[in-house]
Amino acid sequence: MNNNFIPLEKTTDKIVRDDLMPPFHKNGELKSLMGFAIKTKNVTKVYKVGKTNISVLKGITLDIKEGETISVVGPSGAGKSTLLHIIGLMDKPTTGTIYVEGITNTDNEKTLAKFRNESLGFIFQFYNLLPEFTAIENIMMPAMILGESESNIRKKSHDLISEIELAKRAEHLSSELSGGEQQRIAIARALINSPKILIADEPTGNLDRHTGESIINLMLKLQLNYKFTLIVATHNEEIAKKFSKTIKLVDGQIV
Ligand code: ADP
Repeated sequence: MNNNFIPLEKTTDKIVRDDLMPPFHKNGELKSLMGFAIKTKNVTKVYKVGKTNISVLKGITLDIKEGETISVVGPSGAGKSTLLHIIGLMDKPTTGTIYVEGITNTDNEKTLAKFRNESLGFIFQFYNLLPEFTAIENIMMPAMILGESESNIRKKSHDLISEIELAKRAEHLSSELSGGEQQRIAIARALINSPKILIADEPTGNLDRHTGESIINLMLKLQLNYKFTLIVATHNEEIAKKFSKTIKLVDGQIV
């Protein structure tokens, strides 16, 4: 019998299966997430400091659906920030896989950079605005980098700054704004390219309780309008309850 012979049922089976496969697959690996924004499998992160290995994430497996709002809680040093950077494909795991919006952490740097520029918004505890630029210029910046037309970007930025109720501060230097105002601008900047995923790392950590709460309420209101997947790390259990799901990290593990 010819060894190259493939029984008809098998051939048909293969054709049908390939036909049904979602658009992103490579080496048989399912990369389109069918309603999930993010999946991680056995993610670990080990930092090497001198001769010491610091094991920061110890096998994180999680699924986050598109449009979910997730809080990530846990004591300082639990690995929240490390996990958020890895989920956002801004940092690499030591082992394990992250699937985000049709790509994985093993894709090439160009693909990862495109994801970070176009599909991800990231908000930091200390805002990270450019102090020598105005509020509106800070919001416009990520879209300018992508090379959209300036008039479109200006229009979108003015719509966003109105939505965050800071239109009156548009022409102020970002360094002239209060902490809460700077964080609002950082939120608008993170949304200028209409990301599918918004990640915030302790966005209220530098703000008083009332201002912090208004920042979280603003993010949740914008999520309702724009339907992005929202993931926020916080120390504050009261804030965490406002989200549809909470992930608790202790010593690099989900508990
Ligand atoms: P959290 O956000 O929960 O406070 P982090 O993810 O910032 O926790 O940090 C978790 C642990 O990893 C901490 O012990 C921290 O010191 C360590 N760590 C974070 N980044 C590095 C790094 N670049 N090199 C070495 N250790 C690090």
